[in-house]
Amino acid sequence: MMIAASERSLRLAALLTTILKTAEIGSFVGDGLIGGAGASIPLIDPATGMVLLGYRDGGAGAADAAMASAGDGLAAWRRLSASARGRIVWAIGQEVRAHAALIAEIEAINVGKPIRDARAEVGRVAEMFEYYAGWADKLSGDVIPVPTSHLNYTRREPLGIVVQITPWNAPFFTAGWQVAPAIAAGNAVVLKPSELTPLTSLILAHLALKAGAPAGLVNVVAGLGPTCGAAAVAHVKTSLVVFVGSRRTGAEIARLAAENVVPTILELGGKSANIVFADADMDQAIMGAQAAIFSGAGQSCVAGSRLIVERNIHGAFVQRLVGAAQRIAIGDPLDEATHLGPIQNARQFERVSSMVRDGVSEGARLVSGGSAPAALAQAGYFFAPTILDQVSPGMEIAREEVFGPVLSVLPFDHEEEAVQLANDQPYGLAGAVWTRDVARAHRMAAEVRAGTFWINGYKTISVMSPFGGFGQSGYGRSSGIEALHAYTTTKSVWVETSAAPVSAFGYSGER
Ligand code: NAD
Repeated sequence: MMIAASERSLRLAALLTTILKTAEIGSFVGDGLIGGAGASIPLIDPATGMVLLGYRDGGAGAADAAMASAGDGLAAWRRLSASARGRIVWAIGQEVRAHAALIAEIEAINVGKPIRDARAEVGRVAEMFEYYAGWADKLSGDVIPVPTSHLNYTRREPLGIVVQITPWNAPFFTAGWQVAPAIAAGNAVVLKPSELTPLTSLILAHLALKAGAPAGLVNVVAGLGPTCGAAAVAHVKTSLVVFVGSRRTGAEIARLAAENVVPTILELGGKSANIVFADADMDQAIMGAQAAIFSGAGQSCVAGSRLIVERNIHGAFVQRLVGAAQRIAIGDPLDEATHLGPIQNARQFERVSSMVRDGVSEGARLVSGGSAPAALAQAGYFFAPTILDQVSPGMEIAREEVFGPVLSVLPFDHEEEAVQLANDQPYGLAGAVWTRDVARAHRMAAEVRAGTFWINGYKTISVMSPFGGFGQSGYGRSSGIEALHAYTTTKSVWVETSAAPVSAFGYSGER
């Protein structure tokens, strides 16, 4: 049963007040919230379509204030030893753990994410801070055996103020994924979450302060992309822009950052292939295929949105998958039994609906779902788990990201064709293969163009392992040691060690 809209709105305000001491939403700058003065932004409940809360766009003013505050935060952060910074990063993880239930509930209401998924994501965020805490005092340079009389060594230095822009599908998870390595590497952060889902990012900034981070180390700008997001990207003090979101916006942001010769890391969308061979463990592959596309209602950058299945099992596999899809528990994100919540917003709901309609008119066969489930048609943005069979590689539904619970099925006859189908689209974020043939599994891992690849599994990621895209899925890597490298730059230091006087030309020649 769906909890009434008014009750959800009151509940959300109460939860926010518990932690932030107010339900007034603003930007978190320095050590507290500042209200915006721009356009009104409603936060709509994805499960009911009703307004939960509202706030005003922070605009360029909030971005400027956050950048100034980040300058102070950065200076204070650099005065601490690397070990002291590590202890604070660890303490942020502990604050996240201590407030896990509250954060998960806020995320479930605002994003429409099933509460069990929201809880799991909050736990992962605590792990991110714990993992990077240990790295803070282990980022060392090298001594290079140069052929001159010098001692030459390298220092890994933080870049300075990092701007991070995140989407609405997993706001707390994505914030942790980016903030933890950035601050562990010694940077200060200005985070711009999606205007649709700013709440848990604001809480993260509050918890960082509570854990002992200097005021200004983590700032969160609440507002619209083209106003405060663009102002932060174009700001003269910005040293790096990390963007997680759509391909189109990512390209625009990279262009804007390039004006100031500021590097970017882009984590964009995907159209990932989940390849099933006839020799796979069928029960496992069915479970995996469901999880790949339907968890998070398909609003996941790594969603396995193309099922590439060997033709001799294609009919039976699709039939079983349809049966499984129809048994998925859809409902109120706050209900413990719910596995599939709504699409986060009306615009995305429209996009999902129209891409399914277009797929059908291009010749795909709708075998499950395709619209709002009848029992929930009046409430919010629920979309039934949808399967389109007999999709061909030229169709838009086979090439473009839907970002919803919509699976396209493409049959294949032999291994080379499976690889060709997997790679025949512009993205390269993730992929998977299901087979008992070990050699073939590794051949597929080598041949499929994707930043992450699973063998007999799907969706497992860890803060310890690098993550990022090939092709139109973006560039640069988050997580693991690679994220720390991305959030630092290398300085080469030369020390003259020769007892002989320095030559007239100021440097020693090769020995
Ligand atoms: P989006 O590109 O519309 O927005 C992402 C963010 O960019 C938001 O915070 C938005 O306010 C901001 N923005 C928009 N225009 C801007 C501008 N001109 N200047 C600065 N900021 C601007 O994406 P979305 O609809 O929020 O999210 C869905 C997309 O995110 C999907 O394509 C999905 O695949 C992608 N995504 C990728 C990953 C990944 O790690 N690769 C993870 C999650 C989501």
